[in-house]
Amino acid sequence: MVKSSGKIETKLIHSGEPIPRIYGSVVMPVFQSAMFEYAGERSYDDLKYIRLNNTPNAVALSAKLAALENAEAALVTASGMAAISTTLLTLLSTGDHVLAQDCLYGGTHDFVTRDLEKFGISFDFIEGNNPDSWKSKLRLTTKAIYVEAISNPLMRVPDLDAVVSFARAHHLVSVVDNTFASPINYRPPEHGFDLSLHSATKYLNGHSDIVAGAVIGPSKLVEQVTHRLNHLGGSLDPHAAFLLHRGVKTLAVRVKQHNTNAQQIAEFLEQQPKILRVNYPGLKSHPQHARASKLFDGYGGMMSFELKGGVKAAESFMHNTKLPVIAPSLGGVETLLTRPAVTSHSGMTSKDRERLGITEGLIRLSVGIEAVEDLIADFRQALDRI
Ligand code: PLP
Repeated sequence: MVKSSGKIETKLIHSGEPIPRIYGSVVMPVFQSAMFEYAGERSYDDLKYIRLNNTPNAVALSAKLAALENAEAALVTASGMAAISTTLLTLLSTGDHVLAQDCLYGGTHDFVTRDLEKFGISFDFIEGNNPDSWKSKLRLTTKAIYVEAISNPLMRVPDLDAVVSFARAHHLVSVVDNTFASPINYRPPEHGFDLSLHSATKYLNGHSDIVAGAVIGPSKLVEQVTHRLNHLGGSLDPHAAFLLHRGVKTLAVRVKQHNTNAQQIAEFLEQQPKILRVNYPGLKSHPQHARASKLFDGYGGMMSFELKGGVKAAESFMHNTKLPVIAPSLGGVETLLTRPAVTSHSGMTSKDRERLGITEGLIRLSVGIEAVEDLIADFRQALDRI
């Protein structure tokens, strides 16, 4: 297997690839076999079986993903939520407590607020930009701290360095969902995070045709999560692994284009009189712009914004656009628009959404890699027709 070497663009192509190549195949073939002949393995977790996350497509892909963030190991999972839930259920047991950022992807928020309690695990929300307030939430039973590198859907950038030092000072495991930034823009293990999680459904795959997840970090922790996943069963099928393996090779060229397009669109939208506010870390007006510039190699392809006319204007704008697809996911080559209040964050109560600033009229935009001139022209005509 090729070990990590060179820059991330090179690792995307070569890391994790089998050496020698299987039958000389330039592309990692799909090993669509549930089980493999018994070869004297001594432990259950080593038996070669798709659910045990140790068959060839999972192994090659995991090595590639680990290399991208300069980590020791990685695990691929059946979805981003499988990565998140399995990680939290590995780190936390009955009686434990977790600190979680207050503004999170809706599915994660619902898992923390509704499901963890049933396992006897408690939580407190923390404000990502106010590290001084975290200590008051700490308990003797606190085991982990969980944040998103760029939060969904308001694009806040928490004090990520403070999360790492707080975790170290208080013996917590630091976990970050790095989906929005992607390894091209931010590599959490390089900054001291213990675990980096991804919905690989988004940028890592990039083509909106599979659901997958990843857990990246030190071998010991990744092995613990793998053993838990072996029981919970959220393993990635080899064919989906093959598609993710193919998709991820173009991550660098895609994300660079997402970054460039999004910056231009954010600047365009911010100047429009019908727009109330644009949330994009690449804008000088973003409250954490300085932090994002220091930590990230790019600001990503995600933004959200509000129109002055509220939900009615938002609906009208979305309806008027011709190029974007109105759909709730993100991170693919095509531009997508959605209203989080009725899609990704509809599981939250309206009170919770209001408290966090996720208004009914907030539009989330996943900028694709189309020609930016075409996207801007489309947004301009959609605004003119409101
Ligand atoms: N994390 C973030 C930031 C997300 O936006 C999503 C999904 O939208 C997830 C995790 C969950 O990923 P999946 O849908 O692959 O389970």
